[in-house]
Amino acid sequence: MGEEKGGIATRTTLAITMKFFIRTFGCQMNQADSACLSGRLIEAGHQNTEDPEEAQVIIFNTCSVRQHAEERLFQNLNALRPLKKKRPELIIGLIGCIPALRRETLFRSFPHLNFLAGPENLDTVPDLISRSKNGAQIAVFDSKLPPHLTSPTRGKESCGVVSPARGEEGGVNVSAFLPIITGCDNFCSYCVVPFTRGREKSRPTGEILEEAERMVANGVKEIILLGQNVNSYQETANKNKGIGFPELLSRIAGLSGILRLGFMTSHPKDVSPKLFKVIAAHSNIYRHLHLPLQSGSDSILKAMHRGYTAAHYRQRIKEVREIIPGLALTSDIIVGFPGETEDDFKKTLSVIAETKFDDLFAFKYSDRPKTKAEELGGKIPEKTKEDRLARLWKLQDGISLKKNLETKGKTFEVLLLTESRKRPGFLLGKAENEKKILVPGNAKLVGSLIQVQVTSVDRRLLYGVALEQTA
Ligand code: SF4
Repeated sequence: MGEEKGGIATRTTLAITMKFFIRTFGCQMNQADSACLSGRLIEAGHQNTEDPEEAQVIIFNTCSVRQHAEERLFQNLNALRPLKKKRPELIIGLIGCIPALRRETLFRSFPHLNFLAGPENLDTVPDLISRSKNGAQIAVFDSKLPPHLTSPTRGKESCGVVSPARGEEGGVNVSAFLPIITGCDNFCSYCVVPFTRGREKSRPTGEILEEAERMVANGVKEIILLGQNVNSYQETANKNKGIGFPELLSRIAGLSGILRLGFMTSHPKDVSPKLFKVIAAHSNIYRHLHLPLQSGSDSILKAMHRGYTAAHYRQRIKEVREIIPGLALTSDIIVGFPGETEDDFKKTLSVIAETKFDDLFAFKYSDRPKTKAEELGGKIPEKTKEDRLARLWKLQDGISLKKNLETKGKTFEVLLLTESRKRPGFLLGKAENEKKILVPGNAKLVGSLIQVQVTSVDRRLLYGVALEQTA
């Protein structure tokens, strides 16, 4: 095995076409990375396959944010052992956050692995595949921007951040992720991102705008801007120096042909009324803010190094709801952070009950390597974490259902994004507030804006009927 530190030549010319399969674990940033890598491999002459059994190259793009995701990956890796035994020429690669975090042990624990690459080294993967053919084990880690955030010539390439399938539904490319900033400087005490994706790096404004225009020219109707903290976006190049996220968002929204524009993720300490006013001023920006709270207790927020208080969070919610009527609000919560008392947890429940989020992403705390929280005392027993999570969901499920029921009979302008996989004959779209809605319809309507009346709801989805097409 040999480890290389950056700077290796990227040889994307391969004599033999190989079938590759990529499985993505984790966040939208990983999905964007996988789509980008897929585009690169196709450019290098390889073929994508959805069937790992027929693939000659299997790549897992990994997530290390939660221990559970890591365990799931390791199970999937172990499941590949018999296949590798049957076909020793099979090339297996691991890319993304886990190789960046656990590079020392992976080849030892999983000797059937051929290559490892950190999230900032995806441009080396075609070369790594080529060099793995003789059974070598190679690892590449370097701190530079991933390929879709670097190349000034990217316009001539198909990096492929167009999402082939958003979520578990469908597969028509009218939706695309557009990374604008990678890495994070916040060092929240529980989070591995600053260790796996490095420090914040903003992509040049001009390049982002060109990329958005190219996406629209390729038929994309919905663009979702991505970054661990989009609010930290800061252009540093001379021409556009000083452009922050609100201005960038406004410029992208002003490009013609973008029917819907969204973004994630925001940080409560960095969002401001300036951003809310930009959202309010552009009808094509989703009326949705995802603003991670994490905890409603100030002492826990302090231990998390979040940089705000519950009062500050409440104030931002008040402002954004005043400026953007009809806004949908979602959030992230961690239960059972070290030292979290019953009283701390009740404060979180209070903020949830009072704010009435449309939905939440809530998880039990788990220790992650290299983080400050790993070293903290006062670890919460698993059973307590489970109980708290169940109580949280009992509260939130009721709120989410009630909020969805309020939409019954109302009409929304919906962008139809894809055919539903689970419900043949139905299309999945999103309303102006980014709520998902299922509508009976023909695949030809994907990419259209239509007026939809909500006829029924459940806790997660709206169901409606099309009234008329508007675009
Ligand atoms: S803001 Fe905090 S939680 Fe989010 S990516 Fe950065 S360090 Fe992680």
